[in-house]
Amino acid sequence: MRILLSNDDGYFAPGLLALAEAMHGLGEITVVAPERNRSGASNSLTLDRPLHLKQAPNGFHYVNGTPTDCVHLAVTGMLEHEPDMVLSGVNLGPNMGDDTVYSGTVAAAMEGYLLGVPSIAVSLGSFEGKHFATAARVARELAERCRAQPFGAPVLLNVNVPDVPYDVLEGMRITRLGRRHKAEPVVRQVSPRGEAVYWVGAAGAAADAGEGTDFNAVEHGWVSITPLQVDLTHYGQLAPLREWLGQ
Ligand code: MN
Repeated sequence: MRILLSNDDGYFAPGLLALAEAMHGLGEITVVAPERNRSGASNSLTLDRPLHLKQAPNGFHYVNGTPTDCVHLAVTGMLEHEPDMVLSGVNLGPNMGDDTVYSGTVAAAMEGYLLGVPSIAVSLGSFEGKHFATAARVARELAERCRAQPFGAPVLLNVNVPDVPYDVLEGMRITRLGRRHKAEPVVRQVSPRGEAVYWVGAAGAAADAGEGTDFNAVEHGWVSITPLQVDLTHYGQLAPLREWLGQ
């Protein structure tokens, strides 16, 4: 089995190291990750400059680009054989609800999915980063399941794992995305040169964290697994829109 690993926290991130360690012995593992933290990069491709592919002493490859660049470059040019699976993570911090739109972790997996490779994004449920090994072990189990019993259709899974010891996990739950409240406002500061500068504020708290959501599962100690799709068409609005336009 050939597995491509990536992330958005950078090739040096502890979550990626934990993921690579957990995959040991499962097949041919290749790591291609951004050279610096690109959290929040979403599905961006770098089109205005060339990309460099370099290798760290531990064998990990890194690219001066986005998570999407990394997977795109690896699958369409660098790797001799297409991978059987793309795993992205383990991200420091959750990617639930609206986060999935901004997430570079999800984007790396989504790029694999768009290129026809079964892909899984794995994120840790807190920013404390205490139990990457738990999430990495869950990723290993899912990768093993994919190997033993390939999913019938192209698959993009968004996995969030509570930041607790593995033995404390309640189990796995299939979920839908919840929703967050509107993000906190930007934070205005004055730079040493007297200019106004702005920091993007924190994500909003969970607004829809009801039964069945990713937020709900993780809050109660379950691994949340949400199958994602890329088609943004709002099918429910096709008919009202036709009516509105008199078609
Ligand atoms: Mn990140």
